[in-house]
Amino acid sequence: MSARRAALLRPLLDGFVESRPWRDRLLADPIEFPHRYDDPRDIETVALLSASLAYGRADLFKPKIAGILDGLGPHPANALAALDVTGARALLDGFVYRFNLPSDVAVLLLGMGATLQRHGSLEAAFLAGRTASWQATLATFAHGLRDAAPEKEIIRKLGPTRGLHHLLPFAEAGAAKRLNLYLRWMVRGADEIDFGVWKGVSPADLIIPLDTHVMRISRWLGFTTRNTIGWATAEEVTASLRLLDPADPVRYDFALCHYGMSGACPVKPVPANCARCPLRSQCTVGRRVKA
Ligand code: SF4
Repeated sequence: MSARRAALLRPLLDGFVESRPWRDRLLADPIEFPHRYDDPRDIETVALLSASLAYGRADLFKPKIAGILDGLGPHPANALAALDVTGARALLDGFVYRFNLPSDVAVLLLGMGATLQRHGSLEAAFLAGRTASWQATLATFAHGLRDAAPEKEIIRKLGPTRGLHHLLPFAEAGAAKRLNLYLRWMVRGADEIDFGVWKGVSPADLIIPLDTHVMRISRWLGFTTRNTIGWATAEEVTASLRLLDPADPVRYDFALCHYGMSGACPVKPVPANCARCPLRSQCTVGRRVKA
């Protein structure tokens, strides 16, 4: 994207972000769960569980997350640090959500618990694996969590894993949307949405959590010309957003994502929606829609 186009888009996107009804949309977002806690260790652990299971329909995955959190009690980080395989089996008895079975979630929970014991925080573990490559750093973080869990014992006592790679991807392929979402929550802010509890990482380094909604609007606004959701596209969209805000490029993510999720900007443009859309003047698709 050119600097000239970025100069046109910046005031438009800034106004768009300011105009969004944050509070209403928070309840439709898995970030609602970490907002229930005050302690940074509880926030970072609950956030990773919530982001990892945040795929598919929110009305289906949110009760699953809530059920696990109920079992972990008021201080989830302490509960995870003390959790063993027998406790995980009791906690996850009967759990199933799409690709994921109890063993998948047990690896994540016990991996977090062991990581907390070793590093003191998930942030410290992330920073210990930090390299110049954001993609490699995410992969190292995911590998570390999985390696920290007693996977063989988990499988022996809870049964086989099924969607572990989906739950905790290595970011070596794909856009690693949910891991980048987790990082956005931890690093940006604090504001009404994100927490800013990880002080050792700069918001300038974040990569956009690229999903179908952000992808669609990004293409129509000219942030990318690519057609596929993958790491290279996430980097290209983020590079475009850096022209708008070098210090905090993914601050536009929540507004763009929820604009798509809410139905305001569907896959097939709706003339009435485009007519009142604040982005229309710079939207390659919306401008052609007869209102
Ligand atoms: S103008 Fe229409 S297609 Fe473009 S972003 Fe707005 S609602 Fe979506």
